[in-house]
Amino acid sequence: MQHGPRRRQAIESAQKAGAHALLATHGPDVRYLSGFTGSSGAVALFGGRAWLFTDGRYTTQARAEAKGLRVFIDKGSPSVRAAAWLAAQGATSCAYDASHTTVSELDALRKAIPGKLRRSFFVAADGLVARLREIKDIDELAIMRRAAALGCRLFDGVLEHIVPGATEVQVAANLEFQARLAGAEAMSFETIVASGVRSALPHGHATKARLPRRGFVTLDFGVVLDGYCSDMTRTVHLGKAGPQEWDVYHSVLEAQQAAVAAVRPGITCGDVDEAARSVLRKAKLEKAFSHSTGHGVGLEIHEGPRVAAKQQQVLEPGMVITIEPGAYLPGKFGVRIEDMVRVTQRGGEVLTAASPKVWIEL
Ligand code: ZN
Ligand code: ZN
Repeated sequence: MQHGPRRRQAIESAQKAGAHALLATHGPDVRYLSGFTGSSGAVALFGGRAWLFTDGRYTTQARAEAKGLRVFIDKGSPSVRAAAWLAAQGATSCAYDASHTTVSELDALRKAIPGKLRRSFFVAADGLVARLREIKDIDELAIMRRAAALGCRLFDGVLEHIVPGATEVQVAANLEFQARLAGAEAMSFETIVASGVRSALPHGHATKARLPRRGFVTLDFGVVLDGYCSDMTRTVHLGKAGPQEWDVYHSVLEAQQAAVAAVRPGITCGDVDEAARSVLRKAKLEKAFSHSTGHGVGLEIHEGPRVAAKQQQVLEPGMVITIEPGAYLPGKFGVRIEDMVRVTQRGGEVLTAASPKVWIEL
């Protein structure tokens, strides 16, 4: 893990935002900058030095995981202690992540520093570390490749459990059991198994509903390996499908492939979204595509960039995004197909390519 270079980048970003120091309190940011995986911690950066604040539950773990940082173990809020420490070290301003700090936390942070500093000390910076996390380094990409490949193997394995009469929860249970046996630390999010009319729900978590003799089954799931999430969706059909099912599936597939093909450095996220959306518009499924095309993925299942309509952010090499258009016809059925795509120097590389997207009838 290249935590040192990350911390140097982070403090540079804080300086660009007009602050001398940086306070990171959001769990994935803390992990990214320090390697510390505990649930309660704050990283403080100032003047080329780095400190990790946590509590007594993590004494051994923090010292083992956070290399190159001085570790402080104590009671009370790590972020409040970190802010007080930065002020005591001579920092006169400090960037903090406003999007992950509540009003009452900010109040507590302010009270922790000397009165004369309070007015100008805290510089609100949204997602300063999150933006660095959008570009994955070689180590992160290696982990994400393994996570994506495991997702594909799990999908292959779960196909035999997709049979009429099985409940959605049973399908999810089989998938998740195999995931844990294969070394997954956790699932990236609550596994989605949406069958029959429930496939029209974009976020249909597995229920006790039984898989029908005829109808779609959508599986959307991911595993966590070494802290990094995978994310993929496949939709299969049980029994013989009608022409509308076939058409909608292939429109979504075409939209998904068009957006994957559009991925390259320099393109805006809005244009990638439009590549998918225009295909579905032509197929008169624009209204049925009720969400955005994709999102960044990494230490968090949903992170930047947002691959959505009109988003002006451009893709950069090293980003890992999902491409997941869908079409949902309430009361009938729905289809979604999702891959993880790495932005390369010239285009995109599908990390979940081992799972076919061709029509599967079981
Ligand atoms: Zn997904
Ligand atoms: Zn996703």
